[in-house]
Amino acid sequence: MNKLRSIEHIIAPPPAHMVGDGFRVHNFFPGNGLMALDRMSPFFLLDYGSKIEFSPSDKPRGVGVHPHRGFETVTIAYHGKVAHHDSTGNSGIIGEGDVQWMTAASGILHKEYHEAQWSKIGGEFQMVQLWVNLPAKFKMSKPKYQPIRREEFGKVILPENKGVLEIIAGNFNATTGPATSFTPIEMYNARVKKGAKLHFSFPENYNTGFVIIEGSVIVNEQQAKTDHFVLFANDGTDIYVEATQDAIVLILSGEPIEEPIVPYGPFVMNSKKEIVDAYDDWNNGKFGYLED
Ligand code: MN
Repeated sequence: MNKLRSIEHIIAPPPAHMVGDGFRVHNFFPGNGLMALDRMSPFFLLDYGSKIEFSPSDKPRGVGVHPHRGFETVTIAYHGKVAHHDSTGNSGIIGEGDVQWMTAASGILHKEYHEAQWSKIGGEFQMVQLWVNLPAKFKMSKPKYQPIRREEFGKVILPENKGVLEIIAGNFNATTGPATSFTPIEMYNARVKKGAKLHFSFPENYNTGFVIIEGSVIVNEQQAKTDHFVLFANDGTDIYVEATQDAIVLILSGEPIEEPIVPYGPFVMNSKKEIVDAYDDWNNGKFGYLED
């Protein structure tokens, strides 16, 4: 049965903090004080880099070598370019509109910097980084890397030239996204014109939230503005969106992972013991090597 989902919170961007010297982010969760650790499971963390102007720099800004274990990092670049290198030998450039879906799983080291040529010129920078949790049975699986260019997304063209729904993961009607995930995830970008209307229906137990990247939309009769996060209650299925300006909305919905979450620093595990093991393995060089 279809039933309207209510809105639990519309969250204004919390005060920003820097990750390294290249990423100025608003942490919508888990650190906002409003949401339990598992409230958006399987999404564990959402860092949103709202639009900022970076001055030209010959030395690319960013964050140096650091480890991850137990989850996936998904980076979506809206403006600017990010270069990535990791200890499994994968590297790539996340260009404007592209997505990088990196499975840390059993452990990687990586570094994330503004792309060198982009850095020299500088300009507008806007991005999202999500941490997507993995269920216990996949936490120690092999690391994996999916660079996904915007052209590869599934595309649903809206009627009357009102924009496009880009399917990154999951599927909308018969259109499927290219990213593979370990648990069911729907991830779309709606890039729409003023007046566009969209209708989504996700299973009631799927945790669901929108990031308003640009513009302004009415969601289930409430106005949501640029840089806000809309958290939906799990009391229905259906969501109606109407753009009151040209807008970009990141749509996230996923089946919760019903397991304990023990996060510490760059690790997200199921128990304290596994956190201790992660630090031991990292200190003993089991995450490989990556030059700074
Ligand atoms: Mn990282």
